[in-house]
Amino acid sequence: MIRIPKPIYIAMIEHARKESPLECCGILGGKEKTVEKAFELRNVEGSSIRYLMSPQEQLRVFEEMEKESMEMIAIYHSHPRTIPFPSETDVKLAFYPEVSSIIISLKEEKSPMVKAFRIGKEAIYLEELEVVL
Ligand SMILES: [Zn+2]
Repeated sequence: MIRIPKPIYIAMIEHARKESPLECCGILGGKEKTVEKAFELRNVEGSSIRYLMSPQEQLRVFEEMEKESMEMIAIYHSHPRTIPFPSETDVKLAFYPEVSSIIISLKEEKSPMVKAFRIGKEAIYLEELEVVL
């Protein structure tokens, strides 16, 4: 289970809305499955159906997380028009099986859905997400 403080949860949805109709992407860092910080990254694909995190920004985020002794808990991205379930591309490009994938769906404009997954070689597991205060 991943715990996300409410302000970070809201910021993630705002990020998705800001980038829509393109996919947004970012990294959640923290300790012991509790998110402490969200890093917004640039989607260098500039696409509405896929994303690729800017490698330079990713490097900078990794350095910052290391400095603050945070782990990468999750990578998040948005699905501006589709359901919150990993796409074929998401599965193909899941490079970190130990890191959760969070998907923010804006399909229902008024009620965005946020889901967490573990994407393994053989299967996709739904992971529990708890919003904490
Ligand atoms: Zn996706």
